[in-house]
Amino acid sequence: MEKIKMLTPLVEMDGDEMTRIIWKMIKDILLTPYIDLKTEYYDLGLEYRNETNDQVTFDSAEATKKYGVAVKCATITPNAARMSEYNLKEMWKSPNGTIRAILDGTVFRTPIIVKGITPFIPTWTKPITIARHAYGDVYKNTEMQVPSGSKCELVMTDKDGNETRSLIHEFSGSGGIIQGLHNVDKSIESFARSCFNFALDTKQDLWFATKDTISKKYDHRFKDIFNEIFEAEYKEKFAALGIEYFYTLIDDAVARVVRSEGGYIWACKNYDGDVMSDMVATAYGSLAMMTSVLVSPDGVYEYEAAHGTVQRHYYKHLKGEKTSTNSVATLFAWTGALRKRGELDGLSDLIDFADKLEKATIKTIEDGVMTGDLALLSSLPNKKKVDTEEFLLAINERLKEML
Ligand code: NAP
Ligand code: MG
Repeated sequence: MEKIKMLTPLVEMDGDEMTRIIWKMIKDILLTPYIDLKTEYYDLGLEYRNETNDQVTFDSAEATKKYGVAVKCATITPNAARMSEYNLKEMWKSPNGTIRAILDGTVFRTPIIVKGITPFIPTWTKPITIARHAYGDVYKNTEMQVPSGSKCELVMTDKDGNETRSLIHEFSGSGGIIQGLHNVDKSIESFARSCFNFALDTKQDLWFATKDTISKKYDHRFKDIFNEIFEAEYKEKFAALGIEYFYTLIDDAVARVVRSEGGYIWACKNYDGDVMSDMVATAYGSLAMMTSVLVSPDGVYEYEAAHGTVQRHYYKHLKGEKTSTNSVATLFAWTGALRKRGELDGLSDLIDFADKLEKATIKTIEDGVMTGDLALLSSLPNKKKVDTEEFLLAINERLKEML
């Protein structure tokens, strides 16, 4: 078979620990034998980030803006322990945070569903994609503990120096706590556009929910911005595809989500997204089956796995022991990026390859061949736990039959 040709490069962001090992295996076993892989390579492994004073992370994000599509391996976010382990010059920031800030994007997380692993909510037969707004609210708050007898007010000073005051609470009988939150229209608008674009892209309904009945200015502003942008820019496009934008109260949304069969995007404010994404991920089974894509409002895509670098497995690997690390989410990051590259460049053979590689992966697991994390969850009678490399080789056998 002749190798599939690419036109424009993908931005390839390599990473750390066990996922870095998996990264190379995926390329060697499942990609380069079939594709004339064209990537612009950035090494986001912690050693090279340290060597370049993290410049490589900024460069990789700029390259993503230029080419439109990136695939990223999981990376270490340094903490005190990593400072000494890697002899770091500084406690470099999370690469994901840096990239997200540059691309101004929204993260969409989607579970990969296979037969034999039933979600804890068995009616969820299709994936629920969570989109989390990643700016402001309680994550950028100001809070105080206040003594009894205090009077607390919100004070807004406009650009001409005029003050507007609003009473929060008079703490007469008891002390207490107060909190100041903010968000900005521009960020909410970017969030809304990323969500509407992703819904069009994946041809799924978009749900959004806040507590606007209680929070008549703050949450209501989110509702209004989504509605204005939908009416002005997306209503017709949604109608043409037969998909829906659905707004409801957050409590109603939670109740509907639990009763639903899945198959839609659920846009969440920052805190709701933090909590609900953990709930949804757990309910579907395994973090190693969760893909993630960062979508910017102007249509730039960065694909990755939702999990981290699987450190414990890496230390086993370093000792020469076999690991059974699940590569599915990392592999789907590659197929997502290749498919998107194919769509943007009009390469139907690349799109077709990405589809088949995903099918071969799911078939492998449904045939009973899986890594340890899934073997613990699967109800298949003939399941067989294999090691990291055996799993990829088993996918390759099935892929060859499909090509
Ligand atoms: P993690 O790497 O996601 O691993 C947590 C645990 O989940 C693992 O120890 C493993 O359980 C299980 N697991 C996760 N992915 C798996 C896979 N593919 N196959 C099998 N089991 C899997 O999270 P962490 O241990 O909290 O973080 C490790 C490093 O990753 C940290 O340095 C953190 O900064 C980084 N991180 C990076 C990203 C990112 O780049 N997007 C995200 C999160 C964390 P068992 O050990 O019990 O088998
Ligand atoms: Mg969380």
